[in-house]
Amino acid sequence: MQKNKDFLRRIVEEDLKSGKYSEIITRFPPEPNGFPHIGHAKSISINFGIAKAYGGRCNLRMDDTNPTTEDTQYVEALKDAVEWLGFEWDGEVRYTSDYFGKLYDYAIELIKMGKAYVDSLNEEEIREYRGTITQPGRRSKYADRSIEENLDLFERMKQGEFEEGAHVLRAKIDMSSPNMKMRDPLLYRIRHAHHFRAGDAWAIYPMYDFAHCLSDYIEGVTHSICTLEFENNREIYDWVIDTLKLKPPRPYQHEFARLNINYTVMSKRKLLELVEKRIVKGWDDPRLPTIAGFRRRGYTPEAILNFCEMIGVAKANSVVDISQLEFAIRDDLNPKVPRVMCILDPLKITIENYEGFEEIEASYYPHDVPKEGSRKLPFSKEIYIEREDFAEHPQKGYFRLTPDQPVRLKHAYIIRCKEIIKDANGNITEIKAEYYPDSKSGSDTSGIKVKSAIQWVEATKAKKAEIRLYDRLYKVELPESLDDLNPDSLKIIKEALIEPAVIEEKADERFQFERIGYFYADPIDYREDAPVFNRIVSLKDSWNKKSKPAPKKPAKEKPKPQPKEQIEGEVTPMSEAEQARYDHYTKTLKLNSEVANTLARDAQLSTFFEEALQSYDTPATLANFITNEVARELKQKTINNLNYTPAHIADLAKMVDEEIISTKIAKQVFEEMSQSGENPTQIVQTKGLEQISNPDTIQRMIDEVIAENPDNVEKYKAGNQKLFGFFVGQVLKKSEGKANPKIVNALVKKALG
Ligand code: ATP
Ligand code: MG
Repeated sequence: MQKNKDFLRRIVEEDLKSGKYSEIITRFPPEPNGFPHIGHAKSISINFGIAKAYGGRCNLRMDDTNPTTEDTQYVEALKDAVEWLGFEWDGEVRYTSDYFGKLYDYAIELIKMGKAYVDSLNEEEIREYRGTITQPGRRSKYADRSIEENLDLFERMKQGEFEEGAHVLRAKIDMSSPNMKMRDPLLYRIRHAHHFRAGDAWAIYPMYDFAHCLSDYIEGVTHSICTLEFENNREIYDWVIDTLKLKPPRPYQHEFARLNINYTVMSKRKLLELVEKRIVKGWDDPRLPTIAGFRRRGYTPEAILNFCEMIGVAKANSVVDISQLEFAIRDDLNPKVPRVMCILDPLKITIENYEGFEEIEASYYPHDVPKEGSRKLPFSKEIYIEREDFAEHPQKGYFRLTPDQPVRLKHAYIIRCKEIIKDANGNITEIKAEYYPDSKSGSDTSGIKVKSAIQWVEATKAKKAEIRLYDRLYKVELPESLDDLNPDSLKIIKEALIEPAVIEEKADERFQFERIGYFYADPIDYREDAPVFNRIVSLKDSWNKKSKPAPKKPAKEKPKPQPKEQIEGEVTPMSEAEQARYDHYTKTLKLNSEVANTLARDAQLSTFFEEALQSYDTPATLANFITNEVARELKQKTINNLNYTPAHIADLAKMVDEEIISTKIAKQVFEEMSQSGENPTQIVQTKGLEQISNPDTIQRMIDEVIAENPDNVEKYKAGNQKLFGFFVGQVLKKSEGKANPKIVNALVKKALG
């Protein structure tokens, strides 16, 4: 159970309490045009999770209205994903195509009501007639067709009498609606394509906006939960249901933020490209964020569900750090899986004073894990350790085996190095060592101090295994193209050495290889005589360290002069050009020194700033915006990849200065603009984000806040002046950030006396 209820659960609870619905019915409605990914897992966990939590039901519905891209292999993958995550859909799997007949009847009804017409404009004309965000559209002359003519044409469309694109069915709504989606949206189009389920029965296919709401209604869905990009579709969702005067209860649409994760891509289209170009080895390649990929890599459903819960359900889009997902899988596996020893890069050790052979009983689990089980570790004079666990010339702080420093072999004895054997090229090929007979783990009386314990395997009994080291698919946080792929996302070690019990006993499918990471017996390629293990995740988050690899051969070699790093507090002098810009900014444009400094030292940013000035000559506002928001984006992108231009930023700054929007809303608009590339004025208009400056409106909100918080009013009046900010904050919140803060401040002051 979730401790803090998200906004969707709160809505559901309210709807149950008010008696709006007696049972909660949700649905997960994927389009079967690709394998589901972790974003779908989030949607699955929300839809099925809510139904489960409130004793309701969740349907699995294939949204199969596009005959050209859909396929049964994807249907199977979607079913697999839901089941693997531990959910059960209600009844049979459903398909939008099951409702094609009913949907057609609803369309006929709309036509008969005069609310839908057959339009014969071509695609380009339709687009042109639709107008723009700032200009209303015009209605097609075909909108005047009689009901009889519409019925006749629509029937003939269905019979396949016309070419694709010859006609469409459109809703008759409002060609000048500020919501472009409401400008007589398309309901049906002609497609002469074979449908994977409906076959060739249909020559017309319903559009999402028509099919989705009605399918929800037909199934008795109560809460139609989707991602934010459908926000503008909500109006048509409601229009269709209202116009048809459907008998209640009816479903309502609610939107949440889609999941994005860095270092990967999430859209099915991009994933399909990776699969089709054979950049990865299929939809279940363990590097992909698909459920099939995660599953093959060794992720557990529990870890994925925990991750979904951890990141929560939000109303604003953001990018989740992949390390959170990695944390979730470690957290899940840590207390569950056996710990064993495997050597990826073997270095031979001969223990000269050891004779014979023994088997050491070793627990699979550390003492603080409430699980039992152990295996026998063979031990003899010949063992292998990890090559990097020996250093001839150790750096300071190196705790493992060195010529002078003994080390413990995990579960076994302490050894020390006696001699280093090298080949003709100076590579170390073997270490001659000796062991301390009274140092055995668990009964150590040797009194020898070591700083660490390392993994090892016995040479004659160890098994060979192929180890696939998977890493992040992309090398940059926000990948934009195939150039950003991480060339090291898969490293294969053909002959790692693993302790025999792992293969012979198979205590589990997942293991922790001590000090290396979590591994999973590959479900497809694993064979007992040729074992293959996938790395699920490394033990620690090593990604941050990776950018600065540890110096390999520290000793002897003279340390290279390090490039001078900038130390905090120390300032690198400006170049001549930077200085000139700085002077101009501070002296002529009167920018403060901090902002001027940031701009002047960054050629890209200052160019951007100066271009914006051309559109709107108010340096201070622009400079603030650019050094904050734009600069932040430029850490991850280049100037050519931004979704907006300097002129857009100028428009935005101007709206702030003219008090059309608040600075807070400006940030929101900026985020949207940088995602969608839409221009800021349009965003403000379509979303109705204009600042509220009308004192009456604001006063009403203040009255409400005061009425809702009698305790705080009392405290404030008793002298707790700090609560002033609280009241202002509450009013701003109530206005969704749109109230003019200056006016709010003044009026709150007055209201509280
Ligand atoms: P993609 O853009 O990856 O192709 P989609 O949105 O087209 O995905 P659908 O198969 O149509 O995918 O989506 C099925 C359900 O999963 C929808 O309700 C959709 O909102 C949800 N969904 C898809 N991607 C995500 C995501 N990244 N985060 C949360 N929910 C998602
Ligand atoms: Mg899609």
